[in-house]
Amino acid sequence: MTPQESRSSSQIGVKRLLSENFSCTFFNSNPQVWDSSFKKHEKLVGEVMELFEKSLKKPKCITEYPLTLDDTIKGKADIVCEDADGYVYIVEVKSTQIHRVRFQDLLQLMLYVYMYSMNKGVPLDRIKAYLVYRYVNIRELKVSPYIIHITGDIKRTLLNIVQYIADRQKTVSSGINKTGNRSLYIVTDLCKICINNNCPFKAS
Ligand code: SF4
Repeated sequence: MTPQESRSSSQIGVKRLLSENFSCTFFNSNPQVWDSSFKKHEKLVGEVMELFEKSLKKPKCITEYPLTLDDTIKGKADIVCEDADGYVYIVEVKSTQIHRVRFQDLLQLMLYVYMYSMNKGVPLDRIKAYLVYRYVNIRELKVSPYIIHITGDIKRTLLNIVQYIADRQKTVSSGINKTGNRSLYIVTDLCKICINNNCPFKAS
């Protein structure tokens, strides 16, 4: 399995694409919060990769696996593993706790699955998709990975949505679709770590 290099500077990143479509466009992150989440994320990625390596048959696993689609979208999957039977395991790891699961996280994971399938010609049913959050056991004060396997109708529905997003992005990149950009304030959990003091919702 050889990671592909990014091919074009006009490509939009998966996270940015989803933020532009589903998040507040005026979000301004607090760098201290991101620094701490980055460390938690790295640690969790290491633990999860070890779990996959232990449970799969002769696995080859890579972290930060680069993917591109049609010179329009690029991204990096947290973990991609291949086993001896030709199955592929794509894992997206979040440093947030399980109760903060977001629709956007599911779409991010499924965009990687879709991009991998298109890049490598691997059928979607050979690619397994996992979303991981932190689970904090309050009684034992222990943090462990909470792994969600996305399957069945939910997987199929999410794949339909990401295919639509990818096709739409093609029209935005080529200039056919002029309505690609939007500017909206959206109040979500992210407001807690947002430092945009010009936000009208902060002022109220
Ligand atoms: S505080 Fe305002 S600018 Fe920041 S994410 Fe929330 S709505 Fe957006």
